[in-house]
Amino acid sequence: ATIEPSAGKSYTAKYDHIVVAAGSVSRTFPIPGVADEAIGMKSIEEAIAVRDRIIDNFAKAANLPKGKERDRLLTVTVIGGGFAGIETFAELRSLATAMLRQYPELTIDDTKFHMVEAMSRVMPEVSLKTSLWVLRNLASRGAVVHLDTQLKSAKGGLVELSNGMKFESDLIVWTAGVMANPVVNSMGLPVEERGRVRSSATLQVTNADGTVVTGAWAAGDDSAVPDLTGNGVGGMCVPNAQHAVRQAKRLAKNLVAVLRGENPVDYIHKNLGAVAGLGVGHGVFQSGKFAVTGFPAWLMHRGYHGLAMPMWERKFRVVGGWIMQFLVGRDTTTLSLREHPQSYFQAYASRPAK
Ligand SMILES: Cc1cc2nc3c(=O)[nH]c(=O)nc-3n(C[C@H](O)[C@H](O)[C@H](O)COP(=O)(O)OP(=O)(O)OC[C@H]3O[C@@H](n4cnc5c(N)ncnc54)[C@H](O)[C@@H]3O)c2cc1C
Repeated sequence: ATIEPSAGKSYTAKYDHIVVAAGSVSRTFPIPGVADEAIGMKSIEEAIAVRDRIIDNFAKAANLPKGKERDRLLTVTVIGGGFAGIETFAELRSLATAMLRQYPELTIDDTKFHMVEAMSRVMPEVSLKTSLWVLRNLASRGAVVHLDTQLKSAKGGLVELSNGMKFESDLIVWTAGVMANPVVNSMGLPVEERGRVRSSATLQVTNADGTVVTGAWAAGDDSAVPDLTGNGVGGMCVPNAQHAVRQAKRLAKNLVAVLRGENPVDYIHKNLGAVAGLGVGHGVFQSGKFAVTGFPAWLMHRGYHGLAMPMWERKFRVVGGWIMQFLVGRDTTTLSLREHPQSYFQAYASRPAK
């Protein structure tokens, strides 16, 4: 394997077993402006940048008279109404509404929230009835969802939709799907039509004819693992943490088993349902035909994710953060200057005379 460390030169290393778990990346389409103007929601860094942007924009807009620039700063657009998109959209709406208390210059009508979804519904993981509840909830909070609508262009921050609408938006978040990390294509391992590493239920990489590639393992978003419960999409496990975390544990046990000359065991996990947070106090849960909406679902969302967070140290940090916010309110301090950490220092730094 060739290893490219973030510092220093590349080097090669011999291995007996390789585990491919490079995850997924945002899947985009060649829509004008998207690559330059939009931001994904796949990494913590992206999430922090989005949070900082909306906080900064409120501060800037509060100092401006009503007009085009103020509207642009207060307009948020999210493309893609799947789980991640709806959660992003609803959480940003929640943050924006909470920040209005700090800015008497701004009203809820000054803020514009647009979600663009190509299909005729949002959140395919929940029932149609539950998804309609989500739409009503968002509408009641001042957030507009454009169904059956596609983004045509985002050039220069001007959003143009297939329904003819045009508006300027300073924050455009792209959440219209993910694809396996393309790095898996450079590994010489069998990859299926959708770009995922072909894997068996034992999480061993397999050729198209089903034979095992000795010493190669794959799990998570970058792999096509058969869903033996029969509930998957196209027969494969869907890309989510529910599967990824469990596959990782099964993979580790199977790898040890193979090293010991024992047989690996099939990965099988029945979907536990879906739970989404839609901003403080709002949530939705669906398991089969059973659905919970509103505040109880939000509590379930926090409870489940607190429990699902790997490692006690992480659990304490995350849940501790929630408790702190509950006690003292949201932290709306922006850290956007962190992107240019030397700017303040350099502005006043003495330089040698030319
Ligand atoms: C906004 C959002 C909300 C979500 N909410 C939920 C939810 O509520 N429930 C749920 O079940 N799922 C949720 N998911 C999906 C879930 O996050 C993923 O399915 C899960 O993280 C996949 O795990 P993974 O280990 O396969 O990949 P990742 O978690 O993406 O990890 C892959 C790792 O590999 C690293 N990597 C990539 N390339 C290389 C390389 N060449 N060399 C070395 N390292 C590399 C990456 O930096 C990354 O750290 C959500 C996803 C998003 C984006």
